[in-house]
Amino acid sequence: MENHGSELLYYLIFGKRPKVNINSKLPHVGTTVFTVMSQMAIEHNAVNLGQGFPDFDMSPEFVELVDKAMRNGLNQYAPMAGLPILRERLAEKVLNLYDTEINPGTDITITPGGTYAIYTALTTILQPGDEVIVFEPAYDSYIPNIEINGAIPVLIPLQFPDYSIPWDLVKTKISPRTKLIMINSPHNPTGSVLRKNDIEQLRQVVKDTNIFILSDEVYEHLIFDGIQHESILRYPDLLERSFVCFSVGKTYHCTGWKMGYCISSSSSMKEFRKVHQFNCFSFHTPSQAALAEYLQNKDAYLQLGPFVQKKRDYFRELMKATPFKPLNSFGSYFQCYSFEGITEESDKELAVRLSKDYGVTTIPVSAFYSNAKDDKVIRFCFCKKEETLEKAVERLVKFKG
Ligand code: GLN
Repeated sequence: MENHGSELLYYLIFGKRPKVNINSKLPHVGTTVFTVMSQMAIEHNAVNLGQGFPDFDMSPEFVELVDKAMRNGLNQYAPMAGLPILRERLAEKVLNLYDTEINPGTDITITPGGTYAIYTALTTILQPGDEVIVFEPAYDSYIPNIEINGAIPVLIPLQFPDYSIPWDLVKTKISPRTKLIMINSPHNPTGSVLRKNDIEQLRQVVKDTNIFILSDEVYEHLIFDGIQHESILRYPDLLERSFVCFSVGKTYHCTGWKMGYCISSSSSMKEFRKVHQFNCFSFHTPSQAALAEYLQNKDAYLQLGPFVQKKRDYFRELMKATPFKPLNSFGSYFQCYSFEGITEESDKELAVRLSKDYGVTTIPVSAFYSNAKDDKVIRFCFCKKEETLEKAVERLVKFKG
């Protein structure tokens, strides 16, 4: 209070505010590429295939369930960990899908989004000086989340062009300070997925250590070509040392709901909740009641892979008329294209030019490398209406390099 009073006095005498210096905790961080590119899309009236979100409606039935919950008076704080009925239904889902029993009371917490779940898990586990193995390209929140906790990212590039994990290299990077390994499958931005062999390698790396795993599985159901999602939830021995993060927005076409959850062992979750309770405390109650009910509709998530795969295939077909060369995409919202040999410019320059001159917004993949490594690859989000994809490609076929 006293401070405010003296600030006011200063303002009255000198007519300007006193300057204060913020000692940035994230001095190297700018505005996230998703915000930058979405703004560019608006500015140039471009088709936005940059930031990952669907442009079609979510299920009206699910919306009605939220409406019903609100009208039924479910408008006060939910329990800190989430509505018990929702956690029970999620535990049933985990048992059905992955054959693993989790305790809904102690092993799961509902969060405002997958990114929040990841941040909370990292903040729960990391001490200053801890090392975290991060594979690049990496989703852009990971490294700032590690650094803000005083920990050190140990960066390992995925093997281009299939973006697989170089396990032999991983083994050489493990040190007594390694606290955690971050994995992400299906992978953003590349659409690569982990296979059984990766899980086996991971198991060997962490065996007889105290290393934790953070598994970002927000694209759990967006997996194609009949491939099985290698969730950490399938492997109780690994789950014991893991935080597994999920997104409701990705599964139900409602990214703006910012709803997710985290599953871990009960001892880890106890610590996770200590961080969570003093951040947002609890998540939006009516959405939780609605999801608990909507989870009974198993097709909504079981049919998602084939539904989104059709979009990937349609987009790839259309893109054959352009000079860009597709890389593999086995999951997620994303399809990467190489422009090697097509233009000399950097991926960032190309992404700006595509927005400005051609009216199509993408994401340059170098944005996901801390050293801005440029493999001449741009990321497209294909989880859009067919007409949106057609409009984008009609513009891209005019691209002349
Ligand atoms: N996950 C989304 C993507 O990769 C973006 C989320 C966000 O904008 N924060 O495009």
